[in-house]
Amino acid sequence: QQPLLQVEHLKKYFPVSGGMFRKTDQFVKAVDDVSFSVSRGETFGLVGESGCGKSTTGRSLLRLIEPSGGRIVFDGEDITSLSAEQLRRKRRDMQIVFQDPFSSLDPRHTVRQILEEPLRVHGVPAKERQSTINRLIDVVGLTKSHLQRYPHQFSGGQRQRVGIARALALQPKLIVADEPVSALDVSIQSQVVNLLQDLQAEFGLTYIFIAHDLSVVKHICNRVAVMYLGRIVEIADTEELYASPQHPYTKALLSAVPEPDPDVKPERILLQGEVPSPANAPVGCAFHTRCPLAMDICRSKRPELAATGSGHQTACHLFTEPLSKEEAI
Ligand code: SF4
Ligand code: MG
Repeated sequence: QQPLLQVEHLKKYFPVSGGMFRKTDQFVKAVDDVSFSVSRGETFGLVGESGCGKSTTGRSLLRLIEPSGGRIVFDGEDITSLSAEQLRRKRRDMQIVFQDPFSSLDPRHTVRQILEEPLRVHGVPAKERQSTINRLIDVVGLTKSHLQRYPHQFSGGQRQRVGIARALALQPKLIVADEPVSALDVSIQSQVVNLLQDLQAEFGLTYIFIAHDLSVVKHICNRVAVMYLGRIVEIADTEELYASPQHPYTKALLSAVPEPDPDVKPERILLQGEVPSPANAPVGCAFHTRCPLAMDICRSKRPELAATGSGHQTACHLFTEPLSKEEAI
């Protein structure tokens, strides 16, 4: 079966401003040649530290921001070439849940108005809108009495439920969840994750689940892609990624995940230095400035994402350049 979403060589470059009279040919490569595909019903994780390009990837593939290059095939259709009007209709099928329910809901609108808006915009008749709103508020675990209230009258978790209900309003096929629980208390996070999982089962949803660490995605994602400075450095099935991570960056991220059983806890790998600015990404492997295993080749040649096992892809010379591995030993 065809994947629901195919992302090919996606790029989003932002020009670096070059002073008042100077045009610049410098770019921040926020997303730089990102390719992956997502099956129907799957939850695909995008993980990396802030600034790695995961949110920009999520927004670019919905064309909420315009990609600088690459191709996005959604549900059998190349959406990179759609006109604004065609895209607007397609948006029914692809929705986003934002990280911050405090700022993503209009404070002047009641929950009813918030949920009604996408329905109205997409021409759902008034009568149908009311029954849809009643059903939406119910499936996210709120009640009809909540419909008259304003966002500030809710807790963070409740607000995120409203954000999820809004994303569900048009019965999408794909939801990009951009750090949907990062702004919530830990005690509330699992409730919202459970809700997302229940809704996925009920409505056959496909998720792209964006997170800044690997602890949240473990229980919700089927597969995970790890991003660093605008590129995917590793993709694998979640179990495989946790059991046998390959990329040194993934290993470092994983070593920071709290693990209740000390016997299986890998030794904490502390990375040296800060994430370099994406405006000034290192040449070669962008991770070489922090990688404990960096070799000579890493400073000049960029490793491509390549198959390194069943369903496993890694962008690291240790796995794709067997010669340089020997050199390293
Ligand atoms: Fe480290 Fe080199 Fe692999 Fe990059 S390519 S992660 S620098 S070993
Ligand atoms: Mg973000």
